[in-house]
Amino acid sequence: MAFALGIRYSVFLLIGSRVQRPWGLLIKNYAEVNELVQRPMKPCGWPGCPNLVRGQRYCEEHAKQKQKNQDERRGSFRQRGYTSNWDKVRKIKLSRDPLCERCESKGKVTAATLVHHRQSLSKGGSLADMDNLMSCCIKCHDEIHREQGDKW
Ligand SMILES: [Zn+2]
Ligand SMILES: [Zn+2]
Ligand SMILES: [Zn+2]
Repeated sequence: MAFALGIRYSVFLLIGSRVQRPWGLLIKNYAEVNELVQRPMKPCGWPGCPNLVRGQRYCEEHAKQKQKNQDERRGSFRQRGYTSNWDKVRKIKLSRDPLCERCESKGKVTAATLVHHRQSLSKGGSLADMDNLMSCCIKCHDEIHREQGDKW
């Protein structure tokens, strides 16, 4: 009998601990219960965050984190803008000089597939200045960089 009660009690505890949280929140006082009914506490929208929030998407900490992430994303949008600018410059250069300039100087005709910076960006060369650009085939581009001692 005592044994059976013991089992029943531990089952009760087990179920009790599962429902403890929401019920514990509900019984404090009427005003609070009323507010909970109107605007229920929700878990913070941040994946894995245990904090409960009311009327907001994220807890205070994660609202800040979210803002920070958005700022960072905006930053990478700017970078993407930079890249697409270079893409435009590249295309203009290739349409203006569609042949490999190095092959041309050797009397060969080869289609250029990439644009090389005569003065490399790391040495202060301009990214988009047409005078600093050179249409190249892959082979010549490799050769140029090998001659310059760059690792390719
Ligand atoms: Zn959170
Ligand atoms: Zn070439
Ligand atoms: Zn290059």
